[in-house]
Amino acid sequence: MIDISNYDENNIFAKILKKKVPSKKIYEDDKVYAFEDINPQAPIHVLIIPKAKFCSFNDFCLKANNETICSVIKSIEKIANTLKLNNGYRIISNIGKEGGQEVPHLHFHLLGGKQLGKIID
Ligand code: AMP
Repeated sequence: MIDISNYDENNIFAKILKKKVPSKKIYEDDKVYAFEDINPQAPIHVLIIPKAKFCSFNDFCLKANNETICSVIKSIEKIANTLKLNNGYRIISNIGKEGGQEVPHLHFHLLGGKQLGKIID
């Protein structure tokens, strides 16, 4: 499992939040930032991240207050709605090594815009 006690300030999404690395913004509010994935796996592939420092979904559930959790989760639906994903979409959050998480800042992949295949390779 990803080390939840040790947030890496230099991870790429931390740099995106600090505007040190460019990104294509899709949505932003006081708690959430969403941007296009650099390597899209579907016609729509957006990454939704909390602005606060959480290493993973695990870390988020353990440390975030209920208001933040609710707000971040609801923003996913809001973004899907804004992107007119009326026929459905998929949300993925990879957690830790076996979950395939590469960037140690909590993110939700929002995928859609075509008929998606099975989840597992
Ligand atoms: P994960 O494997 O769940 O940690 O997903 C990390 C995602 O971040 C991958 O889908 C990458 O394509 C994406 N990614 C990495 N660097 C960037 C970047 N600079 N801008 C946008 N997306 C990125």
